[in-house]
Amino acid sequence: MLPRTVVPGCQTRGVAVGERVGAGAVTGAEAVLAGLDDEQRAAAAAVRGPVCILAGAGTGKTRTITHRIAYGVHSGVYTPEQVLAVTFTARAAGELRGRLSGLGVGGVQARTFHAAALRQLRYFAPRVLGGPMPELVENKLRVVAGAATRHRLTTDRTSLRDLAGEIEWAKTTLATPDDYPARARAAGRETPFEPAAVAAVYASYEQAKQRDGTLDFEDLLLVTAFALEEHRDVAAEVRGQYRHFVVDEYQDVNPLQQRLLDAWLGGRAELCVVGDPHQTIYSFTGADPDYLLGFPDRYPDAEVVALERDYRSTPEVVGLANRLIGMAPRRAGLPSLRLRGQRAAGPEPRFVEHPDEPTEAAAVAAACRALVDSGVPAAEIAVLFRINAQSQVYEAALTDVGVPYVLKGGERFFERPEVREAVLLLRGAAAGRDDGTPLVTAVRDVLASVGWAEHRPPPGGAARDRWQSLSALVDLAVDLVAEQPVLTMAGFVTHLAERAGAQHAPTVQGVTLASMHAAKGLEWDAVFVVGLVDGVVPIAQSLVRPEAVEEERRLLYVAVTRAREQLTLSWSLSRQPGGKRPRSRSRFLEGLAPDTGTRVRRPSPRRAEVVLDGAAAELFERLRAWRSATASAASVPAYVVLGDATLQAVAETRPGSLAELSALPGIGARKLEMYGAEVLAEVAATTSR
Ligand code: ATP
Ligand code: MG
Repeated sequence: MLPRTVVPGCQTRGVAVGERVGAGAVTGAEAVLAGLDDEQRAAAAAVRGPVCILAGAGTGKTRTITHRIAYGVHSGVYTPEQVLAVTFTARAAGELRGRLSGLGVGGVQARTFHAAALRQLRYFAPRVLGGPMPELVENKLRVVAGAATRHRLTTDRTSLRDLAGEIEWAKTTLATPDDYPARARAAGRETPFEPAAVAAVYASYEQAKQRDGTLDFEDLLLVTAFALEEHRDVAAEVRGQYRHFVVDEYQDVNPLQQRLLDAWLGGRAELCVVGDPHQTIYSFTGADPDYLLGFPDRYPDAEVVALERDYRSTPEVVGLANRLIGMAPRRAGLPSLRLRGQRAAGPEPRFVEHPDEPTEAAAVAAACRALVDSGVPAAEIAVLFRINAQSQVYEAALTDVGVPYVLKGGERFFERPEVREAVLLLRGAAAGRDDGTPLVTAVRDVLASVGWAEHRPPPGGAARDRWQSLSALVDLAVDLVAEQPVLTMAGFVTHLAERAGAQHAPTVQGVTLASMHAAKGLEWDAVFVVGLVDGVVPIAQSLVRPEAVEEERRLLYVAVTRAREQLTLSWSLSRQPGGKRPRSRSRFLEGLAPDTGTRVRRPSPRRAEVVLDGAAAELFERLRAWRSATASAASVPAYVVLGDATLQAVAETRPGSLAELSALPGIGARKLEMYGAEVLAEVAATTSR
């Protein structure tokens, strides 16, 4: 229940704050402005009336709004409880609250649209809905499934997710079931069924919720807006409570959220919005940057501020970001939004091409290891990819080098439902009789029953995500069999359990693994933007529509502008070692990255072609012999001890200490503890002779 004090008559409080701030607090207010440059200060000091900051990445938009709120509070113009700052993710809202409390401001509501709506509706439900707050739909897919069945549609988990996605899009763009077919066609939506069928499911879905007396997340916003629009007393109370509104990342507001914002405002203009049209990355879910761009027209007396100085990134990173977005078609009327780097010079961004994804991941993991060893906190490093399915290979590579990681905005590989299901089935197969089927074939057979197929499904949607997860398991089997031809299903399942165990280890501080979408608004000292191949960035399903390709370019812009100092962009020509489907690097890198000459499709070099010199070859053989003995003593397959690639790296680099050894691929903390001393002894034995 909303605490009573949150919707108070505000008179007494306003007076009290005015008195509390008094003359002495002015210093505090001035001190708040001192941390800003002239343009930022102009925006922050304009505490009354409409303000719009339209500026590029890293120019201090988020910093300016937090300082503006702090200035408003410290100078006595705002009562903290009357300020509502909204943003789009719970993490961003938490970040706002954290920054505000750092500026000595408590009591300001910094929430997502959903959280703010939920809080208000809980309070007003008896009045506007005639009863307690309805339950929220916990399992949307179940309700969608019921609606689909009613229309005799055959669905699976994937098409259900896509159906739910369409219903969400319709609701956030305020399209009714009747509107949906025409709107979906006009917007070029790729619909899982005929638009008319989707509309029918949408209508039944709404009826089902009404029958059950439940609300989904979109209803939450819609009903709250409705409560304000239709109930004068509710509007008076909410508008009496909230008098100053701030929206961060406003380029990503959708029509439904805008409707709620308008309802909160009730015609008032106490609104500050900040955003960057070049960072619009949610158009596919209904976001519309025109609300930001049209703000000065809607509020002709608005203070419109442009910021150019980029305080986040080195001039080298800023230069790359400018060139990248400079290649986008110019939108008429859009200011240039060119960034000017303010920080000291740093290293040039690196562009690295790899033969295959495991090599790319191993190189990124090794670089992370080196950064951590050189004193960069793991939490100041991020690896950003386009789709969550790409995280698996990086999870594994970081595990191999013993660098902890945290996964943002996605599930860990071994926790994904399709992977858990697959692992269970593989375990079942391992428990059965071994009929001599080669491992890779057996794995493929098992995974075929849960959605894996030889040919990848058409791009887009959940089917492809699922296929990619399952495919990662097949690839792993292929890799392991290359190292260990006699590997059995039981050995494979043991290996999966070992990996899952290592990756589930709780991590407090780690390298961030995140999708480019989840990275918005954040920053790190070192950023690796990986997997930059055409068909992934831009993603294949975007290629049919130029405006969708441009959204992908903006996504890459968001990714590169997260880096404070070190930025590495990489891609690999093939998915698997020796893979037969060489790919070309992202089209967005043309004109940015040096020409590698390898864009022509050609087979990738194989890892196995590395030739060891005499001494290294001798050590390699010695290590293999040690591995065989160790493996048989422990009754495990040899690869469970250490892989060939690791032995090869040991033979080539001859580590002299546990620290040096731990920097090599395939040596995680556990391996180091179990085998480190023995491996070093083998190295020493050949070195000393
Ligand atoms: P994005 O578009 O990525 O959300 P932003 O415009 O919101 O970026 P901020 O996150 O507010 O940018 O600022 C980027 C970084 O620059 C932060 O570390 C911030 O503290 C710093 N910064 C911004 N303005 C200044 C300033 N005037 N002096 C010093 N540092 C600043
Ligand atoms: Mg920001």
